Amino acid sequence: MEDLTASVKNLRQKYREIFKTSADEIQKRVDELKPEGAGDIFDNYPAGTPGALWQKSVLKMFDEDICREIFRKWTEILAYRREFSCVGCGTCCRLACSEFSPEELKIKAEHGDNFANQFLSVFVPYKSKAEAREIYPEYIKMLEDNKEEDVYFYHCPKLNDCSRCTDYEHRPQICRDFPDNPLALLPKSCGYNAWKQEVEPVALMLHSMLEIIEYYKDHITP
Ligand code: SF4
Ligand code: SF4
Repeated sequence: MEDLTASVKNLRQKYREIFKTSADEIQKRVDELKPEGAGDIFDNYPAGTPGALWQKSVLKMFDEDICREIFRKWTEILAYRREFSCVGCGTCCRLACSEFSPEELKIKAEHGDNFANQFLSVFVPYKSKAEAREIYPEYIKMLEDNKEEDVYFYHCPKLNDCSRCTDYEHRPQICRDFPDNPLALLPKSCGYNAWKQEVEPVALMLHSMLEIIEYYKDHITP
């Protein structure tokens, strides 16, 4: 059986390497716009000075160039998922994890959170972690190895003993879209693992770029 803890470790290592490459690339793009004599992009420049204008042009470049490209590539990745198929193993229906308790999800749903609303329309909590462990022991072990303790475990009662959805025609969009993120851990039995493996390097790169851009945006003070 695949060692999920090792998979998570490998993914983190890959992400660190890709993150560094993305940071260098973005730094290069920022420096290309740098006016002569300006200091650091995060310095405090008075309004109207070349440094302040540089900061503005960098933020514009992020929004109108890099972020648009990230969005385009991410949309492509999700569209490519349609080339792969669910093999009906039922694992994602038998064990769904959330950082939110049922009560928190209920409050979110009452406040208009569409995901929480759909999630609660099908999933109910396991009575105990031990029950969830019986379904997917390696996943629970991986969470424990990574000290991810604040996780709630759910399952869908609409799955029958033959791993078939008994309300297939009316299943919510979150079921139809699963998995909607190639960076999420998938069960070994999932038919979308080939998709995940193929697109993962690009998805990691896009994720790292977004994280780096967020950092720039938070620390630039035009
Ligand atoms: S509604 Fe059907 S597809 Fe969705 S989680 Fe339940 S059993 Fe699975
Ligand atoms: S884990 Fe993957 S293959 Fe299994 S039921 Fe869910 S989407 Fe289908």
